[in-house]
Amino acid sequence: MPPETALLNAAGVDAGYGTMQVLWGVDLDVKPGETVLLLGANGAGKTTFLKTLVGLIETRQGHITLGGTDVTRMRSSDRMRLGMTYMSELAVFPDLSIEENLKVGAQALGHANPGARAEELYGIFPVLRDKRRNPASSLSGGQRKMLGIAKALAAEPKLLVMDEPSAGLSPLFVKEVIRVLTDLRGHGLSLLIAEQNIGFLEVATRVFVLEGGRIRFSGTVAEMTDNEALRRAYFGLK
Ligand code: ATP
Repeated sequence: MPPETALLNAAGVDAGYGTMQVLWGVDLDVKPGETVLLLGANGAGKTTFLKTLVGLIETRQGHITLGGTDVTRMRSSDRMRLGMTYMSELAVFPDLSIEENLKVGAQALGHANPGARAEELYGIFPVLRDKRRNPASSLSGGQRKMLGIAKALAAEPKLLVMDEPSAGLSPLFVKEVIRVLTDLRGHGLSLLIAEQNIGFLEVATRVFVLEGGRIRFSGTVAEMTDNEALRRAYFGLK
């Protein structure tokens, strides 16, 4: 697709650490309202790629555009201002209360009324309302993940970039995260989710498979499941 119709477009991205190159010519795009899944095993380069997209790691080659603006050399905070929020595995401040975490998330982009935004988010995550005055450290792993998602949403991003939302969660909580993401998708938010858990195919409109720092496959979920080699590698099926 032409980059100008994409919300996010990465073209030919190389990145790495010191003398070690991790990403090799990665192409990936997210259209408005899409949920794109970036699948890959441990060490495939998913985190490195997400950090490059959001500006925490330098792009060595290639280009990244957000809403048509070239952000390749832009600071991370400026990319956020353009509507891209990153949710890492360590997404919350454990010593702050639930409400303070949400306000910090809202203030990151200078939200006019962080308190009102927190109220809206309690509507999506009722469990957080009940515990609003408690420190984030008192939450269970699953609840903490919900708070991480809520905190990232507090800034009202156009695109939420998520690194392994299922990490450390029981299958029951993974289902709950998938339910919340399905809900958010219905509200027009665009999502880019890096995962190893194929359960997330349920929410995806398109899939990219990263192997050894290179995109091995991109297409719809149906196209992926039609691909015999990928089916065998990711679903353990013949
Ligand atoms: P995981 O699911 O384990 O997080 P991943 O697909 O996100 O895997 P990355 O974390 O991006 O993979 O790692 C890709 C490669 O980069 C690995 O070989 C890893 O050892 C290396 N790497 C990651 N972070 C650093 C770092 N800070 N310094 C040097 N090498 C790193």
